[in-house]
Amino acid sequence: MIVIAIANQKGGVGKTTSAINIATAMAASGWRTLLVDLDPQGNASTGVGLSAAERDRSSYDVVVDEMAIADCLFASTIPGLDLVPATQDLSGAEVELVGVDDRTQRLNRALNAHTGHDICFIDCPPSLGLLTLNALCAADTLLVPLQCEFFALEGLSQLLQTVEQVQQRFNPDLGIIGIALTMFDRRNRLTDQVADDVRECLGNLVFDSVIPRNVRLSEAPSHGLPALIYDHSCPGSKAYMALARELIGRLPQERKAA
Ligand code: ADP
Ligand code: MG
Repeated sequence: MIVIAIANQKGGVGKTTSAINIATAMAASGWRTLLVDLDPQGNASTGVGLSAAERDRSSYDVVVDEMAIADCLFASTIPGLDLVPATQDLSGAEVELVGVDDRTQRLNRALNAHTGHDICFIDCPPSLGLLTLNALCAADTLLVPLQCEFFALEGLSQLLQTVEQVQQRFNPDLGIIGIALTMFDRRNRLTDQVADDVRECLGNLVFDSVIPRNVRLSEAPSHGLPALIYDHSCPGSKAYMALARELIGRLPQERKAA
């Protein structure tokens, strides 16, 4: 199973929207897909149709109580996409694990022991705390959604520093599979400028597919559906399908035969 963390310590940049829709596109392409919601807000869980009341097991149980992934799995509304949901008690996990020796490795160990899925996406919380650290230790590679706004590059350099530290201390093979530009607004000149700057700095790391600002993407979660299902022909859905195709093209060859 290839594990992809979707991370950026900034909130509201499109992590969860990307996690939901890329995971849905992968499932639709025949990949047995697992989505791990590691944000206490649980938006990814809601977005694939699992209400808070149904979440009697969650990523909290995996990270804090060392429960097996298989025991915390839920089917989503999308065929081929399973979910380990998040609950609010996950916000206490960082504190509860403070004194624990292997606190960065909880998710890594659980995912290593897990079979039955080809690909796993981890939707990270908006911080570089212990939960995101668990995701970076468990991941083969990182996908970074980046909103084209003024401080985007500053935030990115902080994230890249963290990735370097994780590579040095915990996970030498951690890669970055790509940076996805999100909430792109062609009519906004600043957005355009930031996108140009990001491409100039990071070159091929930036995916060609850009996610436009599209209200359908923000409406979909209130229906408990990924935009890809809610309105598969809206510009946002089309952009996420293109992004998923590009992502598949970047995956290691031997893993593609899912
Ligand atoms: P994060 O997980 O990084 O905090 P979200 O994916 O939750 O970010 O997105 C933040 C908000 O912006 C949500 O309300 C979401 O529905 C909305 N949103 C995300 N991407 C887009 C987009 N491309 N166009 C319009 N709204 C978007
Ligand atoms: Mg989120």
